[in-house]
Amino acid sequence: MTNAKHSKGGINVAEKDSSIELWHKRLGHLSEKGLQILSKKQLFPGAKGTLLKTGVHCLAGKTHRVAFHRFPPSRRSKVLDLIHTDVCFMRDKTLGGASYYVTFIDDHSRKVWTYALKTKDQVRDVFKQFHAEVERETGLKLKCVRADNGGEYRGLFESYSRLNGIKLQKIVPKTPQQNGVAERMNRTICERIKCMLSHAKLPKSFWGEAMRTAVDLINLSPSVPLEGDVPQRVWTGKEVSYEHLRVFGCKAYVHVPKDERAKLDDKAKPCIFMGYGREEFGYRLWDPIARKIVRSRDVIFLENETSEDVERVEKKKNTAAGPVNLEPISPSQMHENVEEVVHDEPQGALDQEVQGEEQLEQEEQVEEEQPILNQESQQEIAKLPLGTPLMSTYC
Ligand SMILES: [Zn+2]
Repeated sequence: MTNAKHSKGGINVAEKDSSIELWHKRLGHLSEKGLQILSKKQLFPGAKGTLLKTGVHCLAGKTHRVAFHRFPPSRRSKVLDLIHTDVCFMRDKTLGGASYYVTFIDDHSRKVWTYALKTKDQVRDVFKQFHAEVERETGLKLKCVRADNGGEYRGLFESYSRLNGIKLQKIVPKTPQQNGVAERMNRTICERIKCMLSHAKLPKSFWGEAMRTAVDLINLSPSVPLEGDVPQRVWTGKEVSYEHLRVFGCKAYVHVPKDERAKLDDKAKPCIFMGYGREEFGYRLWDPIARKIVRSRDVIFLENETSEDVERVEKKKNTAAGPVNLEPISPSQMHENVEEVVHDEPQGALDQEVQGEEQLEQEEQVEEEQPILNQESQQEIAKLPLGTPLMSTYC
């Protein structure tokens, strides 16, 4: 029962008529209990209906097992008092060639950060970046990190923690109750990725994009240890908004600016919705013809259509641009293909924000051209300016 067939994609435009089922998909296949909590707080504009039909995609990911206990687990009293971390291996490579991801979870707010990695050795470098970012954002000091005894948390990771006065707590292998927070979170993220890719009918190589969005959505979802509160709200102390959310993997039309289109070209090109830019940058979309991620604020969403519908239309048209191709390309070509494009020309107050974005794009492109498999390149990652989302570089 998806009533919202076409929703205008300006970030501030709210969906007027939508079902709980639609919000379930927008929130990355959130459990019924989680949806109820948000719905009671009237956080879904215009949401109708209560029943949730469990689709095949949800059974694949088993997201409905989540139970809210009467006695929530204890947690630290302040943000950054304790960070849980773990590394997860994925069988398939992302579009950018990553096979792992690392998670960092703040014990107090339960906010999650993830970074896709090509090798486990990159954990130390992304931790350095994460450490600098969160301390700058909060003005507080990171005090303790809890990890298992994996090689990626020894050596350079240990010396970095020691030098920065961060206590490193090592847990005993095979005692999940000790690192339960990080391990449970990895399971949740993997389940969400499965559901999102299955529903969107996208190949597994899109897991990096799905992970990025799954984590954004987990940070906006009611959490058991927070007794139904939302990590992002606890982390920032500010109310969060859901109006900008759209269904991952749905078909979307991106406006093509005049100067970028030939005389007879369409004003809008069909893309696949991938998620949200950091710092209000707009939406991220996959352009299946150019095979690259583009960013835009000017998007029309067809939330009940998927990549298959994009494929069908493009096959019918049989354009000179070539067929739709969802498959990834070789990592050596990726620097051209993850090039980010801003399709709108903001004015006034938005100018500064977008200048920052353009700067970020250049940095990402430069970073993409670095080989990231050796020690030298790891130092390059460490030198990335603060605030650069590493994940978009790797996925
Ligand atoms: Zn679902």
